[in-house]
Amino acid sequence: MTLILRNVRPWGAEATDVTLDGGAITAVGPASTAGTSPTEVSAGVTVLEGRGRILLPSFSDVHVHLDSTRLGQPFRPHSGGPGVWAMMLNDRQHWREDDASVAERATHTLGAMIEHGTTRVRSFAQVDVDTGLERLEGVLAARQEHQDRADVAVIAFPQAGLLREPGSVEVLEEALKLGVDVVGGIDPCALDRDPVRHLDIVFGLAEKYGLPVDIHLHEPAQLGLFSAQLIVERTRALGMQGLVTISHGYGLAELPAGQLQELLEDLGALDISMATVAPSGEPLPLAKLAAAGVRVGLGQDGQRDFWSPYGNADMLDRTWQLAFTSRFRADELVEHAVAVATIGGASVLDPAAMRLTSIADRPGLAVGDPAELVLVSGDTVTAAVMDRLPDRTVIHRGTVVADQLALL
Ligand SMILES: [Zn+2]
Repeated sequence: MTLILRNVRPWGAEATDVTLDGGAITAVGPASTAGTSPTEVSAGVTVLEGRGRILLPSFSDVHVHLDSTRLGQPFRPHSGGPGVWAMMLNDRQHWREDDASVAERATHTLGAMIEHGTTRVRSFAQVDVDTGLERLEGVLAARQEHQDRADVAVIAFPQAGLLREPGSVEVLEEALKLGVDVVGGIDPCALDRDPVRHLDIVFGLAEKYGLPVDIHLHEPAQLGLFSAQLIVERTRALGMQGLVTISHGYGLAELPAGQLQELLEDLGALDISMATVAPSGEPLPLAKLAAAGVRVGLGQDGQRDFWSPYGNADMLDRTWQLAFTSRFRADELVEHAVAVATIGGASVLDPAAMRLTSIADRPGLAVGDPAELVLVSGDTVTAAVMDRLPDRTVIHRGTVVADQLALL
């Protein structure tokens, strides 16, 4: 099945026709005369009228908690206490209260994410002694439901730590046997208060099951640096280059320039990636990360859940938030936020995929690149980020999977 995208503007450039075949871009040429609606021009060839919209690589949400999402559910006032442990207990107290099951909520939110332009996802699924595998099974069901619309990797995530409650390590290992893609960890110092033991367990399981690692790191400056250094040591010792991600890493943004630079060099050398959700505090230094060759992706985190009322399944909105919290104004920088949210994230999910080489790099739309695409409307890419209009078309493996914010 061949799909021709007629009259589209790759990264906002001149109008072109882009041909998709076998899940990849197979031709990029001058724009032909436009028709008015999708038409089958010959056997096996369909034309989609781009109407001059901007063509981008599809969004990659590399840090989302599909197991806790409450999008589509009645709004409830925020009740979480301060700090990770109090928030976790608040979630534990309430997560069974909704009428909709985890599978139903995760399926709804994943569908909404696809409708808005995301076709590459890495979701956490909390596993602990309260939850068991129930939330993980809900996320796996959502992945199954949307398997033809998006690629979804799942992280078994010990949100409650590994050392505070007996049985935590055992349930995490059970989860790894269910077909998850990544082993999670969290705040080795601040939550479990024994960073060496925490990280040795996480990396030990990763080695045993041959899986990558993704560590939530909410720890402040020097504590966060200490944990990051322990992560670096283990990545080096186990030869896990390209297979480790630090999520959030809030504290790294607060480090003195010399310490930050030293750490960034380690992250670059060991190909340790980072995932940010564009929080309100000091932003990750995206330009320095790009210069150090560190892969960075973007995510929505929890969405209207027991942790946060924010998140709306729209990665274009979160891209605006990344640009805003990074204090970007110049078009090149706002476009870099889009590049992080699309190709940057894709390279976090697959270290063998193409990656950004600088803040000026706009890859992903050349012949041979994957047909993971989204059409958005706007005068320029920056204008599209500012306006975040609903006229979108989403393509996964060369096939239209959503149009006008509705699944096909
Ligand atoms: Zn998170």
